[in-house]
Amino acid sequence: MRPCTGCVLNRVMMVGNDVKELMAERERLVEQLRCNGIANERVLEAILETPRHEFVPSALRREAYLDAPLPIGRAQMISQPWVVARMTELLLEPSPRRVLEVGTGSGYQAAVLARLVDEVFSVERIASLAQGAKAVFRRLGLKNIRCIHADGCSGWESEAPFEAIMVTAGAKKVPKALYPQLAEGGRLVMPVGHVIQYLLISDFSDGAQSDYSTEAVRFVPLLSGVE
Ligand code: SAH
Repeated sequence: MRPCTGCVLNRVMMVGNDVKELMAERERLVEQLRCNGIANERVLEAILETPRHEFVPSALRREAYLDAPLPIGRAQMISQPWVVARMTELLLEPSPRRVLEVGTGSGYQAAVLARLVDEVFSVERIASLAQGAKAVFRRLGLKNIRCIHADGCSGWESEAPFEAIMVTAGAKKVPKALYPQLAEGGRLVMPVGHVIQYLLISDFSDGAQSDYSTEAVRFVPLLSGVE
């Protein structure tokens, strides 16, 4: 049975209102991030332009603009927006153009990065997550992200070097294969630690490696192999 014009109009209005509400929530989230110390306006703009609700399971759409991590299936999480913003801010300082992300997960972090750099290469070890993220990238027309299903502990050798590398899963140390894939003067950001991790910034901008740690964070573990 064809829906009547009234029903169709009603549905269009509901969808329109939904989109408006989600946008208002996204604006509130950005204000909250600003109040909580995220200062880079380009990063805030990228968060404003990235529909996080597209990257969470549909049952959690309403929660998408809370500043909280959310489950995305397979015991994995989409990171808290503040952490995404902070890691992006840290990564952007030397203005990288080609970036490697290890741990695609939902694809949200990659989508934020895609608005700020020329090319994002993202690696995910769980096949269904890699496929899901790729479908969202296609739907949103994000053409400058390439995503593969592989073990990101080995980086993405055929596309190296990268001007910046971001690892979005936690481990006791940086996987050995990653540093050689960093371009000269590049920077790597990764949560490193035992139970609680700290954001480690490995910076090569002065020719030598200088490491420093910032905020305490909690990420799912970086695992080897693929599923
Ligand atoms: N950046 C993600 C957050 C992902 S949670 C987002 O924006 O949603 C961490 C992700 O890292 C999980 O999806 C997990 O499967 C993946 N992961 C863990 N170890 C990995 C590895 N060795 N290679 C690639 N992905 C890995």
